[in-house]
Amino acid sequence: MNILRLLLNNFLGGSITTRFPNRPPADKGFRGLVRYDPQICTGCGVCAYRCSSRGISFRSSRTAYTWAYDPGQCTYCGRCVDGCEAHAITQEAAPPPLYYKRDELNLAHTTQRPLPPPKKKPEAAPATGEAK
Ligand code: SF4
Ligand code: SF4
Repeated sequence: MNILRLLLNNFLGGSITTRFPNRPPADKGFRGLVRYDPQICTGCGVCAYRCSSRGISFRSSRTAYTWAYDPGQCTYCGRCVDGCEAHAITQEAAPPPLYYKRDELNLAHTTQRPLPPPKKKPEAAPATGEAK
């Protein structure tokens, strides 16, 4: 193509970029923000183990566990979602919303673990014979 025609086409064709804050539509299968359902989560911590960029952190104690998500660290790779056997996490099919403050989109959820059943007192051994 003649360079002058190319330049003219580009000049007359207008902009093909999108002005901020508008964004182009997401493609099918887009992997966006991670979403968490504490009702389904079993507290296994596998998602945090699989997240090499520390987008998910998981703290656990005998009585509770805390699942936390930092989209600023997330690369949207989907490894956490693939590894969650309970299907407690998913990814949104759209780009994250605009945000203006650091940590604005962070999530954290603490779930209490069910208390273990109370320990039974050992029954006293029956007395055997007389003391000598
Ligand atoms: S892998 Fe799934 S079930 Fe396990 S802690 Fe993460 S979200 Fe919960
Ligand atoms: S999508 Fe990838 S980077 Fe983001 S939290 Fe899950 S494993 Fe981590």
